Amino acid sequence: ITSTFDNDTWPRYIRVNTCQNTTQQVVDVLRSIKSDSKFTLYLDAHVPDLLVVPPSATALILSHTVGDSDADKNKKVTGQWNPQTSIVLQDKSSCFPALCLISLLSADQQIRSQPWELMDACAAPGNKTTHLAALASHSMAKSGTQQKTCTIHAFDRDKQRHALLQRRCDALVNGDDRVIIQTKQEDFLTVDPEEYPNVRGILLDPTCSGSGMRDNFQGLKHSTEKENDGEERLEKLSYFQYKALLHACSFPQVEYIVYSTCSVNAEENENVVHRVLAESPSSWHVVPPPALAHWKRRGQASSKDTVEKHMIRVDPLEDETNGFFVCCLARSSSHLASKQ
Ligand code: SAM
Repeated sequence: ITSTFDNDTWPRYIRVNTCQNTTQQVVDVLRSIKSDSKFTLYLDAHVPDLLVVPPSATALILSHTVGDSDADKNKKVTGQWNPQTSIVLQDKSSCFPALCLISLLSADQQIRSQPWELMDACAAPGNKTTHLAALASHSMAKSGTQQKTCTIHAFDRDKQRHALLQRRCDALVNGDDRVIIQTKQEDFLTVDPEEYPNVRGILLDPTCSGSGMRDNFQGLKHSTEKENDGEERLEKLSYFQYKALLHACSFPQVEYIVYSTCSVNAEENENVVHRVLAESPSSWHVVPPPALAHWKRRGQASSKDTVEKHMIRVDPLEDETNGFFVCCLARSSSHLASKQ
């Protein structure tokens, strides 16, 4: 169901951690919350297992414990409810990158049947890594092959953020034996592609200006001073983003890369992709993400006949979620790319 929230009460999103529960189990728990303030729970129209709630409901949900009533004691109904691990408060647009990468891998007939090795290049605090894990696990289960597993290599160069990433991966993916996450505190730019010869997909969500985040977006609109101050920073960021995307393209067996930012600046988005494509003209193509075929807002382009129609944009004022950019790249030899 599509929600209808106005600007002041824009919704909050709750991703069910399907490594540990089903959405039905979580919905049953949330429906059992006894409170004077009732709220309506929606299922998101674009992201599977994503619940949409009013902002006032999140504190209630996060503080909810189970165990008292007979119904709560019935594990079949409640699953293993723990607000720290059963759900993840993750904004809708931030769920797009993992969804796009898994939909590309699942749509590729050759990759679909193999064990998967993936990489999350700039991973902390791990929202997208753990989302990748949940979606990959679901895809492995659907394939019906018992031995099929997914390994995710997750990097972050910052020591403290890497520690947080490790803790969250341990807590959220714990118990799901279809997925293994190996985290490492390392600068992605120095990761040697030859050491990861079997990686097939990379999610790259590098540091960005955050200009699409709703609060920043509104702030920027009202401050030319801030915009001017940001020019030098923007140049540095877009150079790093370009280097990181170029590096991702150099992993020998990688077939798909999903590049994303929570920025609304073309300098960090479309321009970064074009700069990389210009350096590897025949190896990589922009492809549409199968999972977001019905998403209307696309990349910014001067003409209609460009690859921007395959890029995803999210408008922070129109789309009830933070501004975002997602671009999927496929190696030209890949099964999917050859069909474009
Ligand atoms: N994908 C994360 C998530 O959804 O939870 C958010 C990633 S955040 C936008 C960018 C991260 O990239 C930061 O944690 C930062 O420490 C990390 N980072 C920045 N430069 C890096 C580099 N050269 N190598 C690895 N990680 C880097």
